Amino acid sequence: MARRAKPNPLMTQIYSFAQEVSGERGFEVAQTLGDGATDEKIEKKTKGKLKVAEIRATLNQLHQHGIVEYTREKNMSNGWFTYTWKINPDRAMRNLLTAKKREHEKLCAKMATEEGAQFYKCRKACMKLAFEQAMELQFRCPECNGKMAYAQNQSDVKALEDKIGAIEQILSSSKSGIATSNSGLMQPAMGAKTK
Ligand SMILES: [Zn+2]
Repeated sequence: MARRAKPNPLMTQIYSFAQEVSGERGFEVAQTLGDGATDEKIEKKTKGKLKVAEIRATLNQLHQHGIVEYTREKNMSNGWFTYTWKINPDRAMRNLLTAKKREHEKLCAKMATEEGAQFYKCRKACMKLAFEQAMELQFRCPECNGKMAYAQNQSDVKALEDKIGAIEQILSSSKSGIATSNSGLMQPAMGAKTK
C-alpha cells in the first residue's frame, strides 16, 4: 500500500468510530497504526502528546470494540513481550455497523414519540414536558413557575431526521462489500497470528 494514499472512506469511518469509543486519543492512535505499530512507535508518531500509559489504555479500549488487533512477540533475552497493534478493518466495520444500527433504532423510537407527542414548555424553556406531566403540574414550570404552553417540536424532529439520515447513509454505503454479520462482535483478537 502506498504511503501517500488518499484517506480512504473506509478508514475515515473507522477513525471516527475510534473517536466515538475512545475520544480524541482514540482518533489519534488509530491513525498512527498503519501496517502495525508498537506503543513506542505510536508515542513517537504522536510526538509525545500521549504518554505510553495513555496509549496502552486507548489501545485496550479500541481492542474491546474490535477496532484493533495485536500480535505479540517474546524477547528471548528478557522474556518480555512486544505487542504490535494494527486496525482490523473488517471487524471494526462490523462493530461500527452494529453500533450504528442500534443507534438508528433508538433514534427512530425517539422520533416516533416526538412526532406523536404534545410537548409543553415555559417561556424560558427550562424544560420540555409531555402533556400529562404538564397537566399534573397545572401547566406551571417547576423551575421558574412560568406558565407552560404547547410547544412546537419541529426543530427537534428535524434534528432527529438529520441524525437518522446520516446513519442511514453509513449503513447503506456499507452494504456494498462489507459483511454485516454480528459474528465478530466484541471478540478478542486472540486469533491474531503469532510467530
Ligand atoms: Zn420555566
